[in-house]
Amino acid sequence: MPLTLAQLNAASQPEFVALLDGTYEHSPWIAERAWHRRPFASLAALKRALVEVLRDAGRDAQLALIRAHPELAGKAMVAKTLTAESTHEQGKAGLTDCTPDEFAKIQRLNAEYNAKFGWPFILAVRGPRGTGLTRAEIIATFERRLAGHPDFEFAECLRHVHRIAEIRLNDKFGVTPELGNLVWDWAEELATESDPGFKEHGQLTVTYLTDAHRACARRLQAWMKHAGFDEVSIDAVGNVVGVYHGRDAGARRLLTGSHYDTVRNAGKYDGRLGIFVPMACVRELHRAGRRLPFGLEVVAFAEEEGQRYKATFLGSGALTGHFDPAWLDQADADGVTMRDAMRAAGLPGTMDAIAALKRDPARYLGFVEVHIEQGPVLNELDLPLGVVTSINGGRRFLGEVVGMASHAGTTPMDRRRDAAVAVAQLAVYLERRAAAVPDVVGTMGQLEVPAGSINVVPGRCRFSLDIRATTDAARDACVADVTAELERICRQRGLTCVLEETMRAAAAPSDPVWQRRWENAVAALGLPVHRMPSGAGHDAMKLHEVMPQAMLFVRGLNAGISHNPLESSTNDDIELAVRAFQHLLDQLAETA
Ligand SMILES: [Zn+2]
Repeated sequence: MPLTLAQLNAASQPEFVALLDGTYEHSPWIAERAWHRRPFASLAALKRALVEVLRDAGRDAQLALIRAHPELAGKAMVAKTLTAESTHEQGKAGLTDCTPDEFAKIQRLNAEYNAKFGWPFILAVRGPRGTGLTRAEIIATFERRLAGHPDFEFAECLRHVHRIAEIRLNDKFGVTPELGNLVWDWAEELATESDPGFKEHGQLTVTYLTDAHRACARRLQAWMKHAGFDEVSIDAVGNVVGVYHGRDAGARRLLTGSHYDTVRNAGKYDGRLGIFVPMACVRELHRAGRRLPFGLEVVAFAEEEGQRYKATFLGSGALTGHFDPAWLDQADADGVTMRDAMRAAGLPGTMDAIAALKRDPARYLGFVEVHIEQGPVLNELDLPLGVVTSINGGRRFLGEVVGMASHAGTTPMDRRRDAAVAVAQLAVYLERRAAAVPDVVGTMGQLEVPAGSINVVPGRCRFSLDIRATTDAARDACVADVTAELERICRQRGLTCVLEETMRAAAAPSDPVWQRRWENAVAALGLPVHRMPSGAGHDAMKLHEVMPQAMLFVRGLNAGISHNPLESSTNDDIELAVRAFQHLLDQLAETA
């Protein structure tokens, strides 16, 4: 009989500990302390309580818990003295079937890891889908993490401890995150389409209107039809548009979606998660034969990343009437214009057809977007979901400081016109100035001495500035201070400088009413509501120009790394995102 929350909430402390036995390796004290936090509104709330108990327990207790875990394919496995749970997990990951070479390699990694960190390597070998990592994946992860910093690795081990516990709890409760699995499998399958030059290396790259891009569109179209959308089409810019009618087919619609193009060597969830999550919701509505008082329009945007052509937000920009006609004449690296690429893809490639995609905001309730966080915040907080307060506005600059190149040996220190030191000084100032205000970030991503030499005082230095904030005012105040500081440094050092603004994007604060709906949805799942800005730009930023919008973030694993194949999410987190979206739909249904 699977365990139930009612059983757990009604249990005495010893019963409670017995019911949760084996969730955390040899550590019944975690359940003992979690008992005081009853009742639990949901399984997610129970998982969260266990996480909080461990957070509050301090480093010594955390270290003891990590050390209570067996080594991977270690002595305990060979001697068959693992706990039942660990035996099951290591067996499921195929560790009991290691080849002699693999076994030897894992033993060497175990020894090196222990010597470096002083605790055993912890990996949830059942992985993000719960079905088990391959031995090759396990070894690759082991090697990667062995190179990590001890502080990070300590926290990462604890995160894996919680993931192991999560899967064990799912087993105890007889719970399978079916919708999370559905989305996870869609993401895997869509990721099999990749541009030539990358596909051969197992890398994911889908740029605008390539064969792989068009194949993705066809798959999305087929899946949407299968999920029960009433209308599915590919529009004049390659967006895949699925409509699930409300009870009245003419009713206003909720607009949602995200992009299916990728950066080069990308992760599988950036953009795509925001398409699949509402697709799963429509599938469930259709299966239940349920119609909402409003329509749901899910758009898989064809282009957001600006990889093949210099035209970001092309897909969502077409809906807001911001498609720049000059883009059609832009050529890619092979000299193919966008117009020709469109025609080769069977699209009209005319401004008339594209202009017709502009939506009338009056026909929509608003826009929501689910997106993987692409940052470390939720991962560090052990929170599966976050509510976005604002998409950061940003400004970018390219600059150059000019001094005097001179002999590194003969030019005395007080006679130099060193351009690079001036820029370095600015970089330090930028770091300090941005950090002084919450939610302002400043980056000097490029800093180069053109044709510099080891024995020459830098005469010129080129650099970039990227400054973002949740409000345009905070962003502009930082820009003003940084530019004033640049002038001051140059004056003081006798240098000249030029600074050219190359990009300016307005901040897109979430609509308070829509943000509240996401907050309600997260709270209804039994999770703490964490509000956070979005440091990256998203399609919602574009829709923000014409209708209210709000976003939901899903935790990314591996410190939230994104634009990278290590980008990852779990079936359980995705399940929660789908549930949150369903809750948002239910809230709307009540008020619409
Ligand atoms: Zn994205």
